Amino acid sequence: MSQTLMDYDEAVRRYDPVLGLEVHVELGTATKMFDAAPNIFGAQPNTMVTPTSVGLPGALPVVNARGVEYAIRIGLALGCEIAESCRFARKNYFYPDLAKDFQTSQSDEPIAHDGALEIELEDGSFFTIPIERAHMEEDAGKNTHVGGADGRIEGASHSLVDYNRAGVPLVEIVTRPIEGAGARAPEVAATYVRTLRDIFRALGVSEARMERGNVRADVNVSLRESPDGPLGTRTETKNVNTFRGIEQVVRYEIQRQAAILAAGGEVLQETRHGQADGTTRAGRVKSDADDYRYFPEPDLVPVAPSREWVETIRASLPEMPAAKRRRLKKEWQLADDEMRDVVNAGALELIEATVLAGSSGQSARKWWMGELARAAKDREVSLEELPVSPEQVAELQGLVDSGRLTDKLARQVLDGVLAGEGGPSAVVEARGLEVVSDDSALLAAVDEALAAQPDVAEKIRGGKVKAAGAIVGAVMKATRGQADARRVRELVMERVAR
Ligand code: ADP
Ligand code: MG
Repeated sequence: MSQTLMDYDEAVRRYDPVLGLEVHVELGTATKMFDAAPNIFGAQPNTMVTPTSVGLPGALPVVNARGVEYAIRIGLALGCEIAESCRFARKNYFYPDLAKDFQTSQSDEPIAHDGALEIELEDGSFFTIPIERAHMEEDAGKNTHVGGADGRIEGASHSLVDYNRAGVPLVEIVTRPIEGAGARAPEVAATYVRTLRDIFRALGVSEARMERGNVRADVNVSLRESPDGPLGTRTETKNVNTFRGIEQVVRYEIQRQAAILAAGGEVLQETRHGQADGTTRAGRVKSDADDYRYFPEPDLVPVAPSREWVETIRASLPEMPAAKRRRLKKEWQLADDEMRDVVNAGALELIEATVLAGSSGQSARKWWMGELARAAKDREVSLEELPVSPEQVAELQGLVDSGRLTDKLARQVLDGVLAGEGGPSAVVEARGLEVVSDDSALLAAVDEALAAQPDVAEKIRGGKVKAAGAIVGAVMKATRGQADARRVRELVMERVAR
């Protein structure tokens, strides 16, 4: 059955969207949350397990202190209060990837609560996301359904379970209902998760690789008649792990729910699944009364982080990505849109390293966003995969700044570096590309050009200064572009003035 959708603009004119995001991040600890099995991605199935990770009867969990520390780091970075004491709880449900029949999680006692995160939207404006809680839990294993379409269980001939992921530490960050996003709800949702991703990386708590599912979002969307009315019924689209996917899900749910409401229908409170084409399909109907029979985990003592420890962690937090971007934008004297392009191109760290190696911000930006961005595009690689280091780019710019290379020569030198001919100085040497700065060599070329075009020389003498361009051009050609055009012009004028 094809789904009726309302035009997006009309939908957000008639209804007020409210979002709720539950973001899971897998922590990059060496071992799992409650046992000593290695936390490694991509190993042979079922090799990274202990009796505890697969929940064998009688196996006892032990809390990973580094996992707790990382959860506190995340909580502090999101401006949360850190609980003086909190417990783990059993969330009981049956699924083959959860051998214990319960997930060790936290329920009404999260380690972090009541925070807020400011995000910066495409147009440079800010939006504050209210954070309800961040709690610790463990990941489940991974089911693979074989033989059906799209890896779904429907139509599969058999299913496989890999428990390597079972017990991997997770932190789940839950927002309060996000109100006031209006037509920008899709952008707000995706930007929030992107901002979190950057923070996880800056904190060093996770590689936060979306394509590996290190960061996954459950996307709740509801509509209401008016911004001051009661919240509408929400749907929850599970496990979306691309920014584009998040945007699409929010957009689609707004259009789908608006069509239902406008037709006098009711939105079902259900979990939904994002599809590759940007739509969502219905999963199970879910009520708030879903009973996981949470109860305190009897095999684990409460986690009571001392205030000293929390303050030590707070003091060790790095500069947050947004603050860093603001600082660098100022230091490098970039315009808002220049900085945004740099960030979107993933060039921030490369430019930062180039500046550390001695280049100015503007010159570093020019190389990475110009010549090097083109080279990366041609080769279909990312900027950091190019065979040139920030130090080499700084060295190249240094040669330009000292007058040994013109911009044009520098581009040729860069070609050589990218072709694997060595560092900038080595390429200058090998290709003989340095600017001819020796006046006597230049004067010889100037005299030759003047002698070859006596009529032009005459015009210049007669006051037609513009005619000097032809002589400068001839000299540049004779020196294969290796002369400084400004100096050549000066020498031409000196010569004809005699
Ligand atoms: P569940 O256990 O069903 O996932 P949670 O309380 O963990 O519920 O998370 C629900 C998410 O949806 C939270 O981010 C919450 O703020 C948000 N939310 C709650 N009610 C609504 C609503 N009516 N519309 C949109 N989002 C909502
Ligand atoms: Mg939830």
